[in-house]
Amino acid sequence: MRRFRSTKIVATLGPASSDADMIRHLFEAGVDVFRFNFSHGSHEDHQKRCDIVRALEAESGRPIAIMADLQGPKLRIGTFPDGPIELKTGDKFRLELKDGTGTQKRVTLPHPEIFAALEAGTDLLLDDGKVRLRVVKCDDKSADTEVITGGPLSDRKGVNVPGVVVPLSALTPKDQDDMRFALDMGADWIALSFVQRPEDVAEARKLIAGRASVLVKLEKPAAIEQLDQIVEISDAVMVARGDLGVELPPEQVPPIQKRIVRLCRSLGKPVIVATQMLDSMVYAPSPTRAEASDVATAVYDNADAVMLSAETAAGKYPIEAVTMMNQIIRTVESDDFYLAAAHANQPVPDRTVSDAMTLAAREVAEAIDAGCIVTYTTSGSTTIRASRERPTVPILCITSSMKTARRLAMAWGVHAVAIAQEERFSAIVQRATEVAKSEGFAGTGDKVVITAGVPMGKPGSTNVLRVERIP
Ligand code: PGA
Ligand code: MN
Repeated sequence: MRRFRSTKIVATLGPASSDADMIRHLFEAGVDVFRFNFSHGSHEDHQKRCDIVRALEAESGRPIAIMADLQGPKLRIGTFPDGPIELKTGDKFRLELKDGTGTQKRVTLPHPEIFAALEAGTDLLLDDGKVRLRVVKCDDKSADTEVITGGPLSDRKGVNVPGVVVPLSALTPKDQDDMRFALDMGADWIALSFVQRPEDVAEARKLIAGRASVLVKLEKPAAIEQLDQIVEISDAVMVARGDLGVELPPEQVPPIQKRIVRLCRSLGKPVIVATQMLDSMVYAPSPTRAEASDVATAVYDNADAVMLSAETAAGKYPIEAVTMMNQIIRTVESDDFYLAAAHANQPVPDRTVSDAMTLAAREVAEAIDAGCIVTYTTSGSTTIRASRERPTVPILCITSSMKTARRLAMAWGVHAVAIAQEERFSAIVQRATEVAKSEGFAGTGDKVVITAGVPMGKPGSTNVLRVERIP
């Protein structure tokens, strides 16, 4: 089964999408990567969904990626045993490390690291930015604040501190526990939330130890300040506009989104644009025209993937949301202008044999109108480089590693197939033509362009380019 589009769809599973039938329908409607949100649900819930996805994968013969999205150091206030309060602009309100009852005057904030990082004049945003507090006076255990924007406040609402690098690791004890579980479950991607510094990524990578690929969620202004270094050491990134849009004014999010997408293409890192893409479809069977335009813009900008969150996890119309996304992507991709911008800004190849071969493969494939480019790969690194070229013909990745095939479900324009390893080049060529035909990329008489590294088995060693006619 092949899909007739290059941009991938990531969909979040949740209460609205946990049974086998629903997950199958979502996959058939177009989902390439399933996101498991570890901010919600038990390990048992995640394991059940994983078993369903893996059974579906075996049955359909299509590698499917599972992304385990860790909660990260999401800061939260304590509770109000007497019920929610209402803060008015100009009120005084105290945050304290000390455990205690939340009242109209105070609430507990159980994070010593925040108090250490606060100073007079710092703003704190509560409940996704609905309430804004400004620090007037603080020490290492408390902060007296003035209410700048009033509103209701209830138990355990989230706290954002924009513009401050909070001295917290990106992995809480819960994240470490969830990560161990996700790796044992066989997640292909581990997504790190609230990354602030390159060291956060390095720390996680050490713990992951190659068992999954590392996806960094860009949702802190501090991370944007070290964007290049962070993207460089990630395997993929997500423009996490939900939290990013709370910490930054809304008008700053679109240019940052475009900057991240451009940077990722030039570095050859898959990038997902995420959050609120078809938000009104949580309650309605069709999106607003502005939402359709938002998805289309991400596709025109050349993102590798677009993502659905609450729409598929908790919404009333999960299948309709995926179907809509699929239709928007296919419509944009059939526009003559779609790849024009991408090709006007073709990234500069690294001075490696593998990049030179990849560049040549695209040019040859386009010149002879090949059915596809076949990348024969072990690690998938050459395939990601081919995807970076944004060729007008599909990329068929053949690999002996199921892990690689699953991981590449995230990458633009890549259709990956896992088959047994071939050693001889003649066998590779034969297998490539057979798979191109059986997967629907080329018929008898069509040509395919094959790249491979000979001898096989060494990552990033692509050194052969071959044009072959399908017998
Ligand atoms: P979340 O991340 O849905 O886990 O918060 C995405 C975002 O913040 O946009
Ligand atoms: Mn987030």
